[in-house]
Amino acid sequence: LIAYLNGQFAPLNELNISVMDRGFLFGDGVYEMIPVYSRRPFRLDEHLARLTNSLAAIQLCNPYTQAQWRALVLDLVAKQSFADQSVYVQVTRGVAYPRNHAFPAGETVPTVFALADPLELPPARAYELGVAAVTTRDLRWQRCDIKAISLLANVLAKQQAVEAGAAETIMLRDGLMIEGAASNIFIVQQGVIYAPQTGEHMLAGITYELVIELAQSHGLPLVLGEVSEAMLRNADEVWLTSSSKEILPIVQLDGRVVGKGVPGPIYQAMISFYQNYKATVMRR
Ligand code: PLP
Repeated sequence: LIAYLNGQFAPLNELNISVMDRGFLFGDGVYEMIPVYSRRPFRLDEHLARLTNSLAAIQLCNPYTQAQWRALVLDLVAKQSFADQSVYVQVTRGVAYPRNHAFPAGETVPTVFALADPLELPPARAYELGVAAVTTRDLRWQRCDIKAISLLANVLAKQQAVEAGAAETIMLRDGLMIEGAASNIFIVQQGVIYAPQTGEHMLAGITYELVIELAQSHGLPLVLGEVSEAMLRNADEVWLTSSSKEILPIVQLDGRVVGKGVPGPIYQAMISFYQNYKATVMRR
């Protein structure tokens, strides 16, 4: 595996960062995960725009232009031996001594790290039969719209899913369904798709935005707004979306069957719109 650190490409096991890196000490940084199919990054501009927003939100100067980011990602992709990849990009506020919460006084050089792993989508049976999810209280902070590397609450939430034998944990805050530990959530009730509108309590997923675009362009009824816990529990269909899972049907929630216990008709329509879209952009 060839990875990237601060201007250099090298085998992953040869790369090292300082223990004084603020990413390591404070989780002071942001990241992106970009899926790559047949060596072609999917929705790269959207991911880079979100990275720019995350950097601005934590007052970290973007170290590269969009063109430089593009070149970095494409170079990294070209260096791997496998064609379908998951590109991880992370920027931290760099190395500073002594340890101090406030931003370092002088110029700091951000630490830029990028890694391309083989993309491992869930197995076909997950799309065909659906997966299980559990719910938990959302313990995160108030700026979940920033794709921050400080992910402790997401880590703890995801572990609950693992321990319950489920694929994802859905986070609830003040009676509302927010999102998954590492995904966005859609529900369907009587043929209408519902999802939370973007805001400071959830990440605006690139896949979430694409699913909304596809619903609108294909004329599927869609309502963006508050989704209550009751709506989630009474839904005919529940889906999760993310760059590493695309769209997965959730057929069991906290041990109870969702709808008919199989991927529903609106899911079937949406996944085919998604696959067609993907095939079209990949052919360009
Ligand atoms: N919400 C959270 C908390 C995430 O970590 C992720 C991605 O991993 C998503 C939503 C989905 O975002 P995307 O579709 O951009 O992968």
